[in-house]
Amino acid sequence: MGIEKGTVFFVGAGPGDPKLITLKGLECIQIADVIVYDRLANPALLEHARKDAEIIYVGKHPSHHTIPQEQINEIIVAKALEGKTVTRLKGGDPCVFGRVGEEALELVEHGISYEIVPGVTAGIAVPAYAGIPVTHRKVATTFAMVTGHLCQDDTIPEEKWNALATGIDTVAFYMGMSNIEFLCGQLVRHGRAPQTPVAVVSWGTTSLQRTVIGTLENIARKVAEEKVPNPAIIVVGEVVRLREKLEWIVEKQFSGA
Ligand code: SAH
Repeated sequence: MGIEKGTVFFVGAGPGDPKLITLKGLECIQIADVIVYDRLANPALLEHARKDAEIIYVGKHPSHHTIPQEQINEIIVAKALEGKTVTRLKGGDPCVFGRVGEEALELVEHGISYEIVPGVTAGIAVPAYAGIPVTHRKVATTFAMVTGHLCQDDTIPEEKWNALATGIDTVAFYMGMSNIEFLCGQLVRHGRAPQTPVAVVSWGTTSLQRTVIGTLENIARKVAEEKVPNPAIIVVGEVVRLREKLEWIVEKQFSGA
């Protein structure tokens, strides 16, 4: 690649399995002077970095302290202005709940050039590894990716719930585990059948992958009983039934730990 110094590459690392990165994404890791990476980008990918590359972790620390977004922006801008090639590695696809918009806007303000290298997003890949294609010609022709993380300022308005409940066949909730009871309840309150199948897939595409199957009515209780850990994708819709025939990975059982 002919690279201008000081370029930032927003790279999708894929959902977990380190082989699910694109060739272009891998190349961006190999050439970077600086790699800024998140908690959900598999650290195994860093083995491809140059020996002298500077590696900066900006994910959650064991203390649960997170680096504020402004500080991450500052780090990226500062390194790029030093003339460094920066690879900003994010889990899944950088544009799907990945704050690429916020970080890229900051670069635009500083006149820094950047590229976006899409990745394999969890909402599609994680169900796939659990034997659930998110669309199927006869079962589901529409699919939505939804944030289940409802802070006060981004609550899903009622009319969107109506649309999600009755207008979309497959719904994948990201960041929804702490709200799963509410999310499933909202779909039912807005017209989705309580018996609609739901899959919760934790640590999808990794050796820790675990799937729990239920319905809108009982999945919240099931995941609580199984103590399903984050990260997890909640997939709602008839496509979940396809897993009965299409499950192609043998998962270990939950230890209940
Ligand atoms: N940009 C990412 C999503 C970031 S939001 C992407 O495109 O995939 C983080 C959420 O993604 C998590 O809360 C979880 O819902 C989902 N997620 C990411 N990796 C996952 C994995 N390996 N298994 C299950 N869910 C995952």
